[in-house]
Amino acid sequence: MSGHKLLFSGLKLWTSGRSSWISRLNDGINERGKASFSSCSPKVCIVGSGPAGFYTAQHLIKARQDVQVDIFERLPIPFGLVRFGVAPDHPEVKNVINTFTQTAKHSRCSFYGNVNVGKDVSVKELQQAYHAVVLSYGAEGNRSIGVPGEDLAGVYSAKDFVGWYNGLPNCRELCPDLSCETAVILGQGNVALDVARILLSPFDILKKTDITQPALEALAESQIRRVLIVGRRGPIQVACTIKELREMVNLPDTRPEMVAADFEGVTEALKDVPRPRKRLTELMLKTALEIPGEKEQERRAKASRIWAFRFFRSPVEILADLEHNRTAGIRLAINRLEGSGEGARAVLTGEVEDVSCGLVISSIGYKSLPIDPSVPFDSSKAIVPNNLGRVQQAAGLYCSGWLKTGPTGVIATTMNNSFDTARSLMEDMDSGTLDVSVAKPGSQSICALLEKRGVKPVVFSDWEKIDSEETRRGEAIGKPREKLLTVEEMLQVARK
Ligand code: FAD
Ligand code: NAP
Repeated sequence: MSGHKLLFSGLKLWTSGRSSWISRLNDGINERGKASFSSCSPKVCIVGSGPAGFYTAQHLIKARQDVQVDIFERLPIPFGLVRFGVAPDHPEVKNVINTFTQTAKHSRCSFYGNVNVGKDVSVKELQQAYHAVVLSYGAEGNRSIGVPGEDLAGVYSAKDFVGWYNGLPNCRELCPDLSCETAVILGQGNVALDVARILLSPFDILKKTDITQPALEALAESQIRRVLIVGRRGPIQVACTIKELREMVNLPDTRPEMVAADFEGVTEALKDVPRPRKRLTELMLKTALEIPGEKEQERRAKASRIWAFRFFRSPVEILADLEHNRTAGIRLAINRLEGSGEGARAVLTGEVEDVSCGLVISSIGYKSLPIDPSVPFDSSKAIVPNNLGRVQQAAGLYCSGWLKTGPTGVIATTMNNSFDTARSLMEDMDSGTLDVSVAKPGSQSICALLEKRGVKPVVFSDWEKIDSEETRRGEAIGKPREKLLTVEEMLQVARK
């Protein structure tokens, strides 16, 4: 169907739709009784309601009094990795949800959950209905380790493992087997440390968090006593940060078990590294090499669980227990470093080492995926190619967050890159590069299209019903919330 025909059919539906929620939109009132805005106001659609989506919306709404923003989200619930990534024992990080909620409740912002862009509605259709579309749909895939045996039972991506303990609906069935003694985590970033901490945290700590009940129960029965966090490079190249390392060092009922030889030459090399890296490495050196005080020695002696960094090791193969067709260990290539500092490269020595383990979690990074063939996508970098958030060769199309930069950066980094995208978009409006002179139907035509396709969006007040239900269920068992685990249940509660 040509673009014109699509727009025309959308407009027709826009004026003729008469179901309950559609007709309210057509009467100029949206779901919370917000007044709709002049047809001439610039209409911006944002795809994805993680930090990138919300910070882009916040900046646009704050900086311009006329812009109207609609956020479309695949799941019935907002907030992306703040809900499904951030570790359950880091509740303070989730306070950003309060700011996002203010944005969602702003009179010029609307949230439409349960809309899978690329499937329920195409990016082209959104572009026809809005003056600008910002893609902020994050990085929902993961980098694969690409070694033989990675499909064996007992091998998981950190993305799925984190999704499992955080209640991501499509990870509900993961049910990882935690009956082994040793787990190997590949990668030494903050996600790896989150996973290690959750595997080793005492039940009494986890039970007060919003970790899902099935994960809590499985972890309570876990036999894992030793977690090895394996990196291909050395101590000066770890990707985690000091706060997360300190949490490991202080984790109750655990003790570190490092290999002193891995730290040869590290003290001398420290003089040339930036200060945050220096402090991080000093903590690692202290943990690995210093004899602790009496109290700490006593604590470590009593600890029933062990965590350790293993350096200069790359995965070569997952070893199988052929009788049970599951993971029995991992073969690691031993590396040496070429170059120095943070940029040093791992080079194979030709030697290998086998480590027995029943669980391997690959935490070597997330990866954005293309969602719509009409959107340019750089497969080698796994990002949407862009210039300061302007999607290359696609007028009116923008991107922010991990989709724009690749899957690194904390929420504050994502906030800054999303503000930058919002600034680019506004510059284009001001300069006329982005034409906002012609009225666009915005959500009204899209909601009509969705209704025709049998897709019922979940609005923000529906999410608030889910939120109340989860909080109520959590309170009953001493947790901040008990998350609903299936899309069906979320929709049921939303539509009560
Ligand atoms: P996301 O948060 O992934 O949001 C993308 C959104 O788009 C999601 O809601 C998704 O459902 C939606 N979406 C996907 N596809 C579609 C589609 N087709 N249609 C519509 N919607 C779609 N940072 C910190 O500062 N502190 C932490 O403690 C911390 N912990 C983390 C733990 C983990 C495990 C991970 C992976 C990251 C963590 N981060 C943390 C980093 C932080 O989560 C990211 O910087 C941030 O979430 C990136 O935001 P985003 O909006 O680009 O992506
Ligand atoms: P990350 O920080 O990029 O770490 C990825 C790790 O995987 C690195 O150790 C990397 O080693 C390794 N790796 C990558 N490719 C590999 C390969 N082919 N073989 C072996 N190892 C490989 O990614 P992340 O841990 O997924 O975290 C993503 C972002 O979220 C980060 O910015 C992180 O800080 C943030 N986050 C923050 C928090 C928090 O603030 N508490 C919590 C979780 C996540 P090399 O360095 O050698 O490439």
